[in-house]
Amino acid sequence: MIKLYLNKSEYSYEIENIIRLFFPCEKIEQTETVPSIEPFVYTDILTGEEAGCGIDNYFIKCGVAVFGKRMERETICPEKEGELNTARLIYEMLCDICQFTPKWGVLTGVRPAKLLSTLTKEWGSVEKAKDDMINRLLVSPPKTNLCEYCYNAELKAEEKSGANAFSLYVSIPFCPTRCSYCSFVSHSIEKAAKLVEPYVDLLCKEIEETAKITKKLGLTLCTVYFGGGTPTQLSAPQLEKVMTAINNNFDMSNVVEYTIEAGRPDTVTKEKLEIIKRLGANRISINPQTMSNQSLERIGRKHTVEQTVDAYNIAREVGIDFINMDLIAGLPEETVDDYIKSLDEVIKLNPENITVHVLSMKRSSRLVVSGEADYNADSKTVEGMLKYSEETLTSKGYKPYYLYRQSKMLGNHENVGWSKDGYDCLYNIYMMNELHTVISVGAGGVTRLKQPNGTNIERIFNFKFPYEYIDRFDEIIERKRGVTDFYGKYK
Ligand code: SF4
Repeated sequence: MIKLYLNKSEYSYEIENIIRLFFPCEKIEQTETVPSIEPFVYTDILTGEEAGCGIDNYFIKCGVAVFGKRMERETICPEKEGELNTARLIYEMLCDICQFTPKWGVLTGVRPAKLLSTLTKEWGSVEKAKDDMINRLLVSPPKTNLCEYCYNAELKAEEKSGANAFSLYVSIPFCPTRCSYCSFVSHSIEKAAKLVEPYVDLLCKEIEETAKITKKLGLTLCTVYFGGGTPTQLSAPQLEKVMTAINNNFDMSNVVEYTIEAGRPDTVTKEKLEIIKRLGANRISINPQTMSNQSLERIGRKHTVEQTVDAYNIAREVGIDFINMDLIAGLPEETVDDYIKSLDEVIKLNPENITVHVLSMKRSSRLVVSGEADYNADSKTVEGMLKYSEETLTSKGYKPYYLYRQSKMLGNHENVGWSKDGYDCLYNIYMMNELHTVISVGAGGVTRLKQPNGTNIERIFNFKFPYEYIDRFDEIIERKRGVTDFYGKYK
């Protein structure tokens, strides 16, 4: 446990996040006085008046004591930059003591490409914005380059959107089994089989009600995304029913991209893929995560590499020509060579997108609870995996087009979507960079409403669990009225 004394409590969220970059699995406990027993971090911040260093300034002193080493640093800065400078001092001391420099600097948010976009508008040039990220936020130059790739993809995606555009997210929160690293609200089918049929019926109803609202508001549906969970966990008739509900209720004439996640290859059949194709979806995601049967068993996915390849080949056979495949770098006991083998095999299949995730040590996942994963050891392995990914994917014609970060990712890295030319997934960009409204239906769905031609964002949450969704469905429909209220403010 790390003790933390802050004499400015409003900085606690930021400072705790900085400490977690170095100690992601440690508990942090705030104290009333400067702790005397290690490990600890403390601040001693004085106003300019108190410290005699100028009325609009802060005098910041911070201390760190970990691994038997102690350090103290101080600075004077304008009051409005107090939080950032406190974070920087603590970050720099922890880098020195831990001999580890997190590549995203003091940036702890999940959307760094969105930040680059905002800074570019502020600075008037992407180069100046990148410099700002490097010098002020201590982000490494390679990570700012990664942001720039994604920012360029954002500009192209933005051209295909408009003030009234929106995307539809459909949540299917069921999976065949629960993966050991999973922290989503997803229910293994053995436990939730009875809920699926009523869930599908109500989901179709929510789709119908949502379409009425968007029609009235004159919104234009631009992309559709089925995620979860595993949408192809639905039976063929159930999948057909939900997709038909969408086609019958929404105006599909402006939809440029329609994705169904077929994440678990053991749920993919030719019949389902034919339905997907016939009812208008043009992109699917088949997610091997690893091409090692041993690892698959270890992480509880209960499918084989052969099933992944079969699902991929059937998808091509039925004419699906836009396929994503996800991999995870840093799975327990996997070596860099194991990862290289997986990536090479996936590249050989030749999908249009490859998404490279880095394992995130979420507290609610089985992997963390059971202690199977080792953050420090696995973080070192991940470096080599990502280096190989970058070199190989680039040489094979893939470019990064979207990225996001999660807490507790090994080595404090990021997840990156790679695409071949002309195959960026628009939904991922719209959703991750908050470029337009995403309306979600189904359990666990979060609707993110974006002000037309503005930046204000409001959220509406659906109930997380399928049983709540079913039991309290009327409340879900009631909450959807918030969409009308939101757009009413900007008429
Ligand atoms: S397939 Fe995805 S949502 Fe389902 S259990 Fe695995 S990680 Fe969780």
